[in-house]
Order: sequence, then structure tokens, then C-alpha cells
Amino acid sequence: MVQSTEVATATVCPFLFRLSYPFGANFGTGVFQVGIVAHEILSEALPGPILDAWGTNPSADDSTVRKIMVEMAGLNEETLTNNIEEMTKRGFVLREHFREEVLDQARGLVQGILDGVISKQTAPHRILTEQTITNLKVHLEGRLDALLEWGGRQYGVLDWKTGNLDPIRSGGYDQWQMISNVLLANYRYHGDEDDFTGLRFAKGIYYQGSHNFRMPPSPMALAKVKQSRSYALNVLSDRSPPAQKPRFCPVCDGCTGPVDDCYFYRYEGKLLREGTLPKPLWNIRRQLMRQAYEVIRERAVTHKDKFAIQKFVDSWGLDEALSELEKAGIIATGYRMGEVSGRRVTLHGAGERRFFRQRAPVRLVGLESGIPLLACVNESASIVETRLGEIEVEFSRKPLTRRAIKELKDLPIVVLPSEINLTRRMLQPLHIFHRMAGDVMIPGGTVLGG
Ligand code: SF4
Repeated sequence: MVQSTEVATATVCPFLFRLSYPFGANFGTGVFQVGIVAHEILSEALPGPILDAWGTNPSADDSTVRKIMVEMAGLNEETLTNNIEEMTKRGFVLREHFREEVLDQARGLVQGILDGVISKQTAPHRILTEQTITNLKVHLEGRLDALLEWGGRQYGVLDWKTGNLDPIRSGGYDQWQMISNVLLANYRYHGDEDDFTGLRFAKGIYYQGSHNFRMPPSPMALAKVKQSRSYALNVLSDRSPPAQKPRFCPVCDGCTGPVDDCYFYRYEGKLLREGTLPKPLWNIRRQLMRQAYEVIRERAVTHKDKFAIQKFVDSWGLDEALSELEKAGIIATGYRMGEVSGRRVTLHGAGERRFFRQRAPVRLVGLESGIPLLACVNESASIVETRLGEIEVEFSRKPLTRRAIKELKDLPIVVLPSEINLTRRMLQPLHIFHRMAGDVMIPGGTVLGG
């Protein structure tokens, strides 16, 4: 399975993707804490105060931005306080004007969506945020920032660009990620990733602006994304397909990327091919690569339940598959949202007891008519306890609990097993050790310019 973000990275540069898999170099998308919190605020505000304001056909000026920000004030405060507490607990040192910066970014994004979307479209019937869509037919998964829905299966896809205030441009990471996400949205609404008929728009919202991505994309852009997807899948399936370095290094030539790590691995690869890699380093490399590929194989196993479920659905149809999977103790069906207590929610179902281990991560899927199971509205949680006719689950944050209640409250819920993906965390120490060994053992010490 490959994620939309990984497809985008592989489209920008296949070497950049290879730095993550198999090497495990963390090329920091940048832990932009300000952007992360602003993103969280907008995710909750969009189907709330922003959608409410949208329904009143507001004017696209500062007074509307101010009005929306006033409506968002309670939510902003709670999200900020929770995040600051959590980050402080985890030892992050926050920037001096952290609160002000987050609120300024949120205000800039509200202005961006007001000018670029709200002033140009009627209010949608429903907005879903942070939705994971899995299309096993093409081994693609992604988390979409926002899906906007109108009647007649019309939809729009939005992507927040936070953390960096620059405008979005075509031909870069944002475009590739958007194409990949739109393919998932097409699958959700039409069961076919190449069917763009219901798509109204795909826009990126940045600080005080928006970018309209060409949809359907040009045949060349679409082919490029699909080729990169195959490339990424090949790497994740233990193969080593040839990769071509872009003529211009779009990320690293701006001195903002992992140029040093890339040079290291390419130089090491060159020595290997020439047969001049020092023997001790050759040995270390061999062992580390073996371990890295084992980690990647384990990563594939984290998706096994999804593949098993899809296989059942393809063979027997949805209803029979769900019933058989429930009999086999793999899933639980027919639950409804019940009582809420802090981050916990009790789900009510048939008078039987289902068995999930405590703390097991699960995906709560709200069954929607005519939409593939793994593309239906869903939220992640963990099991607290299973009782006769009840399952108590916990969400990791309060806003997620509120979002889950809003999105799932009218739908029958299926509880699917899920897994936490720790691949990057497991690969990173291998990379650090590999680099240390290389820096010591390669004659000359440094490989930059090699
Ligand atoms: S330095 Fe160039 S080739 Fe290497 S990862 Fe960056 S963009 Fe790709």
C-alpha cells in the first residue's frame, strides 16, 4: 500500500522517496507546530462555523473573516490550550508568539477559503474532514483534508497548506498530492478513480489565497503520478526499480532538503557498483539493508486486515462479507454512537459481546449507501472495553471525538481492526547508524561533492 503523500514525494523525485524507503532518512517535512495546530483548528471549523457562515451567502471581505473568527473563538482557544499542554508535556519549546502565529495562520486560511471557494460556490450539503480513503484495487491510501459534498454526487476536494505562508504553485509536491487525493475521491463517489464527472474543483488553500488545480489533470500529469505510484509500490515490494535523478533537484537544490543524505547514498551506491566500497562498510550496509527490508515487509503486514476484508467483499458482496467477517470475530457490525464521556464514546449494538483486545486500534466506519466500504466516512479510535451489546472506544483528542460524533451519529457503524504504522520510526535508527558508519569509513570522510 502506498500513501498519497508518498506518491507525491516519488513524483517530485524518486530518490527523495528512496531516502524514506528503504533508507529511513527523515527528511523532515518540518515539524511546523504552528501549521499543525492551525490545520487542526480549520479541520473542525470548516464543517462548523465556516459552513454556517457559508450558508448565509456572506460577502468576501474583512468583515466576514472577522465574523467567522469570532464564531471560531471558543474552538480556537480550546485547540490551542490542548496543543500547548501536550507539546509542553512532550518537551517542545514553543516559539515566543506561538498563539498569535497560529491565530494569524487560521485567519489567513479563512480569508483564503472565503475568496477562493465560498464566494464562488453555493454552500455544500455536507463537509467531511480528515478522511482516510483506501483503494485496494490500486494499492493507494490517503487522508484528505476536506471533502465537500453537493447533491447528485458532486464534490470538491480541499487541501490546507499550513506551516509555510508561500502560495501554492503548479508542478510541485502539492499538485502531485492533490491528483493522488482526487483519484481517491473519485473512487469514493464513483468506484472508479478515473471518473472525474462529479468533481466540481480541487483547490489548495494557503495563507490569504487559494490555488485551483487543473482537473481532470493533463494526461501527462496523470500518467506521471500513476508511474510514480507504481515505482513506490515496487520499492515497497522489495524491488529496486531504476530511478532517474531530476535534471533540477526541485527540493534539494533550494538548500531546504536532504541533499546531504541523498549525496551520501548515491555516492555509496556508486562505490558499490565500482567495487571500491570499503569491505567493513559493505558488510554493515548489507546487514542494515536486510533489516530495512524486513521492516518494510512488516509494514505491508499492517494492511493485511484491509486486504482480507476487501477480498471477502469482492467475493461475496458487502452484506454477506460483513456477516461472515463478524462470525469469524474479525469485525463488529451494526453499532450506533451512544453516550459520550470526555474522549470516550460507548457504541451500542446487538446483545452480544465482541472481542477486541484492550487498546487495540480500530477504524470506525459509518456505512454509506453506494460507497465502497473502505472509502466510507471513518474515524480512528482505540478499544477501551467490550461489554454485552456495547463497545467503549476512545479517541486520541477531544476535537476528534466531536468530529466522530458529528460524522457518524446517523450511520450504522462497522468496527474494523487497524494497525499503527511505525515503519519510519523503526527505519530511522538504521539510517543514523548507516550515516555514521559511512562518514567514518569512506576515505575522505565526507561525501559531499563526491
Ligand atoms: S538532491 Fe536531488 S536527486 Fe537527491 S533527493 Fe534531492 S531532489 Fe532528489
